[in-house]
Amino acid sequence: MRKKIIAANWKMNQTIADAASYLDSFLLEVADEKRIDIVIVPPFTALAYVSERLSKVQHVKSGAQNMHWEKNGAFTGEISAGMIRELFARYVVLGHSERRTLFGETDEIVNKKTKAAIAATLTPIVCIGETLAERDAGQVEQVLHTQLTGSLAGIPAKELADVVLAYEPVWAIGTGRTATPEQAQEAHAYIRKVLAEISDAATAEKVRIQYGGSVKPGNTGALMGQPDIDGALVGGASLVARDFAEIVKISA
Ligand code: 13P
Repeated sequence: MRKKIIAANWKMNQTIADAASYLDSFLLEVADEKRIDIVIVPPFTALAYVSERLSKVQHVKSGAQNMHWEKNGAFTGEISAGMIRELFARYVVLGHSERRTLFGETDEIVNKKTKAAIAATLTPIVCIGETLAERDAGQVEQVLHTQLTGSLAGIPAKELADVVLAYEPVWAIGTGRTATPEQAQEAHAYIRKVLAEISDAATAEKVRIQYGGSVKPGNTGALMGQPDIDGALVGGASLVARDFAEIVKISA
């Protein structure tokens, strides 16, 4: 059985002051939700604060939204895996569609980052997903196959088993238009099939695959009821402590 993992991707939202009041209520709400992994992914400026608060709460971890693949050097504006790890953050979101489309991240870059994250004992949450034009053109499987084989190239099965994947169809992100549970399940089952090709069937069974894209309390139950959906990567609804706590409780 794969343990569910629910993550809050705050994107470029929440100051330290916002994070403080959010955690005051969120941590009370989820105090008993220990059957599930809960991850808060704040912007870098609030990561040290959030990680410090969460160090007192064993079952909720922090993560970063991005990182550079090099350990250090002349990369103005970038952050390394070691710097994230120093804050006791456990996860890093990689290859989010906003990074891919707005900041030019390719599968090759995501692959370098994924390997660097693993080497620094961070758990990568690797994002993949098709655009609406690609779905309409019947290219969902082809796109997912290319993203998976590119982003995960050269990662041994033992390490791949602990990577978290997030299937986020671009057309469902921030649009209020969620994939139906059936559409999501179909994509997740295909992703698991490709994982088995890349590694082996036993490894593919271990990898947790989150769904992301307009997840809300109202659609969480049906999505989490699908056999290959192992959690959620939540954007907009994760900004309200009560809504995100509700999503966690429904998923547990
Ligand atoms: P929304 O939940 O706002 O659609 O965002 C999803 C997402 O991009 C999470 O990474």
